[in-house]
Amino acid sequence: MTGWVAVAGLGPGHDDLVTPEVQAALGEATDIVGYIPYVRRVPDRPGLTKHESDNRVELDRAAHALQMAAEGARVVVVSSGDPGVFAMASALFEALDSGPRHWLDLDIRILPGITAMLAAAARLGAPLGHDFAAINLSDNLKPWSLIETRLRAAGKAGFAMAFYNPRSRSRPHQFARALEILREACGGETLISFARAVSTQEESITTVPLNEATPEMADMRTMVIVGNRDTRRIGRFVYTPRSAP
Ligand code: SAH
Repeated sequence: MTGWVAVAGLGPGHDDLVTPEVQAALGEATDIVGYIPYVRRVPDRPGLTKHESDNRVELDRAAHALQMAAEGARVVVVSSGDPGVFAMASALFEALDSGPRHWLDLDIRILPGITAMLAAAARLGAPLGHDFAAINLSDNLKPWSLIETRLRAAGKAGFAMAFYNPRSRSRPHQFARALEILREACGGETLISFARAVSTQEESITTVPLNEATPEMADMRTMVIVGNRDTRRIGRFVYTPRSAP
């Protein structure tokens, strides 16, 4: 039996947004590895073993997947959205980098998915139609001071921005600080959108000027998108023109 590992993105939530390539890999897998809610999205079937793990154990999880593949299993490591965006693909390569050399001979594939930022942008209209920056607002893996520096720099440079992991219960004050920095760097009239649980039954979308944004508008299921100074509303849509004046 020849083992392999695929790191696959399950998209933002709705089954229609899982690519056929990912569906096929899930159909051939013997083992699914990942964070509990993502593993639960894969239907049970005979011959499939699911290995659920908690958040923050990404390296152990990746090493476990590589080990099982080395022993002949067909393993899919699942992420939400795209596996290369603040997710498991980098963790797998970090584990590969510090693991036994023979893991390099394994059949390893990264299968893209629709990342939350693009699903959210599509719901809104086209807020990322010009240059933009994607920033993870969690300080789990980097210092908060670096996040502040990047927010300020991206805002001042006129990038639209997409924020992953905007706010959690353990660090509620940080998103309030992020909003202050954005008002200073982008101006209070710049539009900010909160797209929550996109493509699920709990989906909700709100757009306000930065001056009216409050920290409670975001939680960990929300994608936050800030426009540039040219981003505007047309009817129920938000879009950023393709050209800069
Ligand atoms: N790899 C994932 C991102 C993981 S970080 C991807 O490519 O989408 C997790 C963050 O993604 C959440 O805190 C939230 O900001 C965002 N997110 C994931 N799914 C979402 C959804 N359906 N709607 C809105 N935001 C979502």
